[in-house]
Amino acid sequence: MTFRTATCRCGQLRATCTGDPVRVSVCHCLACQKRTGSAFAVQARWPKANVELSGEFREWTRTTDSGSLAIYHFCPHCGATVAFFGAGMPDVTAIPVGAFADPSFPPPRFSVYEERKHAWVAILGDDIEHMD
Ligand SMILES: [Zn+2]
Ligand SMILES: [Zn+2]
Repeated sequence: MTFRTATCRCGQLRATCTGDPVRVSVCHCLACQKRTGSAFAVQARWPKANVELSGEFREWTRTTDSGSLAIYHFCPHCGATVAFFGAGMPDVTAIPVGAFADPSFPPPRFSVYEERKHAWVAILGDDIEHMD
C-alpha cells in the first residue's frame, strides 16, 4: 500500500493519504488561482476514509460558482491549505499536490476551467481530458 504525506509549509498540519488518489486534476478557475497564488492549481482526491489529518487547523468556507460550499482547512501558523472538501461530495478529500513536495507524484488526468486558463499555460499529456 502506498502512503503519501502532505504538509503545510511549517509542517505541523499533515495529511496522510493511503493508496493512490482517485483523481488528479489541474484547475484554472479564479478561486484556485487566489488559493494558490499561482496561475493554476493541481489537486488530488481520495476517499475521505483514506486521509488522516493531524495538527491544528482553521477552516474557511466559500460559496462556489455553482452555489455549493467548499471548505478549506489551513494552518493558522503558516497559512497553507492542506485539505479541502466540497459540501456536495462529503466522502471526498482534496489535497493540493504541491503540499506533497514530490515531483514524482502521479500526473493529472483532467484540466478543468480552461476558459480561465492563462494563455501561456499548456497542460500536456496523452491522457488529459480538457474541460471548460
Ligand atoms: Zn503550517
Ligand atoms: Zn478551481
